[in-house]
Order: sequence, then structure tokens, then C-alpha cells
Amino acid sequence: MRRSIRMSLNILGSMALDSVETPYGREVDSLGGSASFSALAASLFCDVRMIGIVGTDFPKENMKIFEERGVDTSAVEVKDGATFRWRARYKHELGHAHTIGTEFGVFEGYLPDRNSIRNGESLLLANLDPDIQNWLLEGEAQPGFVACDTMGLWIKEKKSSVLKLLRRADLLLINDAEARLISGERDLIGAARYLRSKGVNMVVIKKGEHGALFFTDRIHSMIPAFLLENIKDPTGAGDTFAGGMIGYLERAKGNINDMLLRRALVYGSIMASFAVEQFSVKGLLQADAKAVKGRYKRFLELTGF
Ligand code: AMP
Repeated sequence: MRRSIRMSLNILGSMALDSVETPYGREVDSLGGSASFSALAASLFCDVRMIGIVGTDFPKENMKIFEERGVDTSAVEVKDGATFRWRARYKHELGHAHTIGTEFGVFEGYLPDRNSIRNGESLLLANLDPDIQNWLLEGEAQPGFVACDTMGLWIKEKKSSVLKLLRRADLLLINDAEARLISGERDLIGAARYLRSKGVNMVVIKKGEHGALFFTDRIHSMIPAFLLENIKDPTGAGDTFAGGMIGYLERAKGNINDMLLRRALVYGSIMASFAVEQFSVKGLLQADAKAVKGRYKRFLELTGF
């Protein structure tokens, strides 16, 4: 008997030890990284395989967190050396992170195993060096749906690699400052038009606590962020949004329509709301199907008119 092959959402990105300070506290070497937040969020919706690298100093308990959420970590390399580390501080408005230091550690020279992905599987290229993102995309296996994220650092240092990525990706998630930076446009409709002209069909522009904008050939839409009273640490909000959104789309595999896309943004927003309530991935780990359903209902109440 042939065993059916289960399709997974592949997530490539950073796996990190974050040291973050906000007006509400400070943590050192906590679990972070774009792939970590995205994978934990997506795992509530679909099967997830993480692709990345950590050093031998990456705590075993961190790996267990993924395994307990059913995330396949078999494509995560463990290499002699130091795990990627990011240090940042947020001021009172919590609007954006002030990076104090980035140590790439084992990410230096890393090229993921292209055999990790199978033909037709979806791929979320969470924020990472665009040359590494492109490397995975250019393998023999032809992924199905491809979503990607990036950041100001890569737009400044490797803009041509970011633009190359956009020619192959179906969906880009980017924040408002980054959209302005890459496009040179001040208004976000113009920035989205610029990005779509580079080949990516769908563009999500995240605006932090002010929600997100979504542009395709047919849709211009805006959704608010989930209304919250206690935000402790915004780290990972964007990655969690991406994981929630793409995980929800993956669950609906093959049946993507405009309404589903709009709803996927709402799930992205809801997942991000769990992430920012606590440091590191702690808030996200408290999100289960029941809690997500509750916030979805509340979201409808908050936005109904
Ligand atoms: P976000 O708050 O969604 O923008 O993402 C924060 C996460 O991104 C942190 O957990 C960091 O470990 C990770 N990160 C920061 N800088 C980089 C970088 N240059 N490449 C990849 N990941 C990064």
C-alpha cells in the first residue's frame, strides 16, 4: 500500500536567542527568531516543517517547545558554534525595535538543504538574509505558494536580492517603514503598486498597532490590529502575523478566494495579539484553538458597524 505523503508548510527563517528590554521588563537569551514565531503560530492551523540552523548552545528545552506543538524540526541543523543572537530595546510607545546588536553566529555561510522541500509544498520565507531565501527557492523542487518577509537591514544592504525574491514570491509581508524604504514612495498605495510591479501579486503592509493593509489585483483592504490593553513585548508580532495568516491559508489548501484571504489577515492579527502580551513566545504558547476562536468572535464585535 502506498503511504500518502502529508504536505507541510515549510518555514525558513531565523531561530534565535533574543535579549530584549521594554518598559515592562527585560529578558536575556529567550527563544526568538522569525521562523520560531511563525512556526508556532502556523502550527495551530496546519502541519509545519521548520528549516533553519542553531548552534550547540541552543537549549534543548527550546527545541522541545516546537516538538510539543507538533512542528517538524528534522530540517533544523545543529552546528558547532553560537546560535543567532539579537539584542533590542523598545521605548515607551513600543512602536519599533531599536536593534542594539545582531550576532549571526552559525547563520554565517549557512545554506539550507534544498531537499527539505517537496514539489508543490507551500513555503514561508520568514525574515532572513535574502540570499539564503533565494537559495532555497532556486532548488530543484518547485514549491507551490510562496510567501516572504524581509526587513530594513536587507533592503539597505541587499536590495537587488530582495527584488529578485519578489519576482518569484506570490505574497510579500512587509511593514510600512520598509515598504516606504524599498519603494521610495511616501503613500502606501503607491508603495504597494511599486512592489506589485516587481512581480509579487499580493502585498500585506503591516502597520503595527494600527493594523494592516492588503493589496492584490482585485483587493484593497484594511484590517485593524486586535484591541489590547496590556502589551509587554512587541517582538515577533510581524512573524507571528505571517505564520497565522499563511497557516490559515495552508489549511484551506487549493480553495483560496478573496474572502478567505481577507479572513486570513484577521487570523494573522489575532495570532500577533497573543505574541505581544508576553515576552518571547510565552503569549503565543497560551493560544489554543479555543482562545483563537474567542478572539475571532471578539474581533467581529469590535469591527462590526
Ligand atoms: P519582528 O518583531 O516580527 O520584526 O521580529 C523579531 C525577530 O526577528 C526576533 O526574534 C529576532 O531574533 C529576529 N531578527 C532580528 N534581526 C534579524 C535578522 N537580521 N535576520 C533574521 N531575523 C532577525
